[in-house]
Amino acid sequence: MQIYLKTEEEIELMREANLLVGATLAEIGKAIKPGVTTLQLDKIAEDYIRGHGGEPTFKGFPNPYGPPFPASICASVNDEVVHGIPNERPLEEGDIVSVDCGALFKGYNGDSCYTFCVGEVSVEVKELLKTTKEALYLGIEAAQQGRRIGDISYAVQTHCEAKGYGVVREFVGHGIGKKMHEDPPVPNYGHRGEGKQIKSGLCIAIEPMITQGSPRVCLMPDKWTVKTVDHKLAAHFEHTIAIHQGKVDILSSFQSIEATEQEIM
Ligand code: MG
Ligand code: MG
Repeated sequence: MQIYLKTEEEIELMREANLLVGATLAEIGKAIKPGVTTLQLDKIAEDYIRGHGGEPTFKGFPNPYGPPFPASICASVNDEVVHGIPNERPLEEGDIVSVDCGALFKGYNGDSCYTFCVGEVSVEVKELLKTTKEALYLGIEAAQQGRRIGDISYAVQTHCEAKGYGVVREFVGHGIGKKMHEDPPVPNYGHRGEGKQIKSGLCIAIEPMITQGSPRVCLMPDKWTVKTVDHKLAAHFEHTIAIHQGKVDILSSFQSIEATEQEIM
């Protein structure tokens, strides 16, 4: 395992890439409503990232089992957990859509995901989204210098399972830097005090993928889309963070997304 700890200069470049991703997700959030297709959202993302001097990292991302990823965002609707391919199906009132977005900017990667509501969703669905987002922030809080990756995993897992939700095992968070996926892996399940020690300069993406029912997932014939086996809903929130100067620094941002969300509510 090769973990690349970042310098202060590199962390500032990582912040620029991640703020570009945050702004892109906010543009997408403004456009989400019943009748809009995920392919339209993908176009907004690609134009926005390229228009600001970035490159959509997901586009052309290789897949050992099939064709490379064809789009700039992963858009996973309802029982789709991750890696949904944008398509022509209009979003419907009451759907949820997890939009995962990555951008390469000045040689460094941003990676962040937000699960959006389409119109009004049920109280149960809101609870799933709220718990998943809370788990992300509890994971971030646990990512203190000197602690271990397992402390993050434990914080995410215990919060979600205490509410009866499932924690997906097959996909995990990751180190991030010049490459979108670097060491170490950051699972959403695990034990306190286990795994690699968190050192200053570590940059990781923490990304709980949480289900309403069973945590079991399956791969669709398109070789990308991952769905829950029981067809219950899944939520996914992701931040890229850096541990430096003795604190945890969130490099991506939901601020513009949440401002838009409140306008709508
Ligand atoms: Mg992501
Ligand atoms: Mg990621």
